[in-house]
Amino acid sequence: MLRVSRRRFGRYAGAAFATLAAPTVLRAKTRPRVVVIGGGAGGGTAAHFIAKDSSGAIEVVLIEADRRHATCIFSNLHLGGFRSFESITHGYQHLSANHGVTVVNARATAVDRAAKRVTLADGSDLTYDRLVVAPGIDLIWDSVPGYSKAASEIMPHAWQAGPQTQLLKARLDAIENGQQIVVVPPPNPYRCPPAPYERASMMAHRLKAKGFGASRIIILDPKPKFSKQALFAEGWEKHYPGMIEWYGPDVHGGIKGVDPTTGTVATDFDDFTGTLVNVIPAQRAAAVAVDAGLTNSTGFCPIDPNSMRSTLDDAVFVIGDACIAGDMPKSGFAANSQAKVVALAIVGDLSGTAAPPTRYASACWSLIAAGDGVKVAGEYGPNGTTIAATSETISHTDEPAAIRQANYTDSVVWYDRISAEMFGR
Ligand SMILES: Cc1cc2nc3c(=O)[nH]c(=O)nc-3n(C[C@H](O)[C@H](O)[C@H](O)COP(=O)(O)OP(=O)(O)OC[C@H]3O[C@@H](n4cnc5c(N)ncnc54)[C@H](O)[C@@H]3O)c2cc1C
Repeated sequence: MLRVSRRRFGRYAGAAFATLAAPTVLRAKTRPRVVVIGGGAGGGTAAHFIAKDSSGAIEVVLIEADRRHATCIFSNLHLGGFRSFESITHGYQHLSANHGVTVVNARATAVDRAAKRVTLADGSDLTYDRLVVAPGIDLIWDSVPGYSKAASEIMPHAWQAGPQTQLLKARLDAIENGQQIVVVPPPNPYRCPPAPYERASMMAHRLKAKGFGASRIIILDPKPKFSKQALFAEGWEKHYPGMIEWYGPDVHGGIKGVDPTTGTVATDFDDFTGTLVNVIPAQRAAAVAVDAGLTNSTGFCPIDPNSMRSTLDDAVFVIGDACIAGDMPKSGFAANSQAKVVALAIVGDLSGTAAPPTRYASACWSLIAAGDGVKVAGEYGPNGTTIAATSETISHTDEPAAIRQANYTDSVVWYDRISAEMFGR
């Protein structure tokens, strides 16, 4: 049994720890166990900080389906040629070696909330005192008529990083001058609001670098507007004139469906054909959260904004893209911030102490061209039953190049930090 120090609580919440009760001791005779499902931006960070800040007084078991995790974060930069695939792919060995987290490489297939038990694909199970659910999103394949998991091998989504990212990159690299790419972004809400448009920028960067200025990227958006729109529009005009065309539903009239055999996207207005078609369907919380009965009619999981505790089960916390986080975007930064709140809440819960006041943060950088990074950032706090923005800032159009370069540099520094936190380095 080890002490949970005031210094460690402070690392989560900055000034907030001034209100924390005196250091406490976890009193359980055997160690309480926290099981975390999903080792991404939310779950990896949560496992790391619960283990570290309980100084081993809590047993932490992380269940992750994949042996190595490719981050969606910076996957667009991989498409653009700014990052190698290896540089965005990480193993879990440091979480075990440095923080004593037990990493179970398996898929969680069911959660029995009454018995506080998680079942794994091989039929074995694990009981828990507290459960953190951080499985990210699943794609709703038929939200785009004609699209399916099989179709995604021809029209990649690359919205869950890994083989899909590599497929999209290979297909992009095979484009010849004059050939056309069609991108179909998802409807709200979805993971990383600016990412489809950063992706189009990175595709154009890659084509321009090869001298393929005759190629076109057509974006057929189901939404009438999108994140950082003015910034992307300015950047596309400046760096890729004539290469990227964006059409909202007022122009195309609605996406009617896709045909993978012909590479066609049918809209009310016309049919668009691409040598490469990138379809990103609608999204919901990943299956394990849905099957555990943790979602509501939105397809995502309602939470208490003070702690990220499920409103449907006191022993369960849901973080990251699977939860309903009010004004916070579905971003890796947000998931990482929510994970730190959860670690405080669970350590407090299991040690009988109050957690400090809750604060969250998110920042989302997008690279439009080499050295031209833009940013949207916010701070957030509980407000009644939801999480509300307390401040938000966004890059301006017509900014000095030095600011845009600094944004990009900041994003690289941040990637190193978040990946160290997710994977326990
Ligand atoms: C192209 C793109 C670019 C992005 N860029 C940025 C960016 O620059 N900055 C930013 O902040 N965010 C970015 N994001 C968003 C960010 O990737 C997500 O918001 C973030 O990963 C969400 O974290 P999460 O923990 O909820 O889910 P994930 O990071 O997806 O992790 C979920 C994990 O759970 C595992 N899992 C799922 N189900 C099970 C199960 N049943 N059993 C075991 N394991 C399971 C999965 O294998 C996965 O490892 C981007 C997203 C995309 C698509």
